[in-house]
Amino acid sequence: MPLKLTILGSGSAVPNLNRGVTAQFLNFNERRILIDCGEGTQLQLRRFKVKFQRLQYVFISHLHGDHFLGLFGLVSSMSLLGRTKKLKIFAPEGLEEVVRHQFKVTNVYLDFELEFITVKTKAKTLIFEDNSIEVYALPLKHRAECYGYLFNEKEKDLNIDKSRIKEFKLTLDEILAAKRGEDVERKDKVIPNSDITLTPEPLASYAFCTDTSYIPHLADWIKNVRLLYHEATFTNAHLKRAKATGHSTAEQAALIAIAAGAEQLILGHFSSRYKETSALLEEAKPIFDKVLCVEDGQSFHLK
Ligand SMILES: [Zn+2]
Ligand SMILES: [Zn+2]
Repeated sequence: MPLKLTILGSGSAVPNLNRGVTAQFLNFNERRILIDCGEGTQLQLRRFKVKFQRLQYVFISHLHGDHFLGLFGLVSSMSLLGRTKKLKIFAPEGLEEVVRHQFKVTNVYLDFELEFITVKTKAKTLIFEDNSIEVYALPLKHRAECYGYLFNEKEKDLNIDKSRIKEFKLTLDEILAAKRGEDVERKDKVIPNSDITLTPEPLASYAFCTDTSYIPHLADWIKNVRLLYHEATFTNAHLKRAKATGHSTAEQAALIAIAAGAEQLILGHFSSRYKETSALLEEAKPIFDKVLCVEDGQSFHLK
C-alpha cells in the first residue's frame, strides 16, 4: 500500500515560478489527501502527475491566502471536468462560508457535494479515523486560527509465522488470538505471542506543522513521529520578524524535531528573501542531523 507524501508547493506568501505556495499531496494507504491548497495548486497537481479527481479529503491549516486561495479554482475545475464524488474538507471556521458565498454570487452550481468539517480545538484532538488512519488536529500559534495535522497509521492484526502453525499445532481460535496480540494459553503451558507472530513493521506517521511560532509543547503532541514537516520561514537572523509574524526559524524547527524524537525533518514555507536554502539548512543541521529543505515536486516515502 502506498504511503507517500508529495510536496506541491514549498514557498510562502506569494507563488512564483520556482516555488508554489503551500500544498501537499498525501497518499496514505490509498486515502488521497490534499493538505493546504495555495493559489495555483491545481497546476502543481497536474505538473507532478497527481490525479485531482481522485482526491477524497482536504485539510486546510488556516485562512491565509497562501494556504487556501487555490481551493476555488480546484473545486471549480473538478466540477467542470465532471466530478460527482463527494469531497470532504476539514478547515477552521469561516472557510465554508467563504467558499459557499463565492459560488453563490458567481452562480456556480457544483455537481458534487462539498462536505465541510469545522476544526475548532485548543488541544490535540482526533478529528477523523477509519480502519487504517487517524488524523489529529494540532492547534498552532499564528496570527490567524491555525492547525497542524498529524496522520497516524493504525495498528493492524499481527501476521502469524506460518512455520509455527504446524510446530505448535495451532487451532483456528489460537491463531485468531495470536493475531490480536494475545499469548496462546494451554493447560500445560503458555506460548508467548512473540514465538508465533512476525515482528510488525513500524507504523507510518506524518506531522504537518505550518505557520506557527515556536511552541515547545508541540513536540509532546507528535512524539516519535516518523516524518515531520515544520515551517522554517526565517533563519535566526530574522528572529524578531519570525516572532512578530507568528513564524518559526530553522533552528526552532530543529528543536521541535529533536524534542519530539522525530525520524526525519523536512523544512518548508520559506520566505522569498532566501534565494537558496543553504542558510536555513546550516542552521538546523547541528541540532537535528536528518533534515532537508524541500523543493516542489519532491516525494517522501513514509515507510
Ligand atoms: Zn503561510
Ligand atoms: Zn499564515
